[in-house]
Amino acid sequence: MLTARDWFDDGTVFVVDVPLACCALETQAAARGRAEVDLAAVPAGAAVVVTLSGTLTAPVLPAVEAVLGQVPPTRTVVAFGACACVGGPYWDSYSVTKGGGELVEVDHFIAGCPPPPEALTAFLEEVRRDRVA
Ligand code: SF4
Repeated sequence: MLTARDWFDDGTVFVVDVPLACCALETQAAARGRAEVDLAAVPAGAAVVVTLSGTLTAPVLPAVEAVLGQVPPTRTVVAFGACACVGGPYWDSYSVTKGGGELVEVDHFIAGCPPPPEALTAFLEEVRRDRVA
């Protein structure tokens, strides 16, 4: 079962995190205390944001693709951290992709190694503003 966090506890923005490496500690810190629901229970009209948090190595790509395949195509994909943006410090490793853009269309990039949890929430506040405007 895939779950999503009701980020603002108001049914507007739901986040599906794909935890891949150390950046996931930051997204998990940002998500602490936020209600988790079955992705299938996300209301129509809500924004669904997928965060790629960490290093995308060749062995994990099928699992990441499987997650993306379960998320509505209207999702917003966020590359959280240098690894998910461009490969980070491991960009020249044979097994590391040069960012999530090699796998899926990325809508927003958050730089840093790692970025702070607040950087994710700041972007999600923008998403929420656009959604309710
Ligand atoms: S960007 Fe830095 S902190 Fe984030 S997963 Fe890569 S190495 Fe780890």
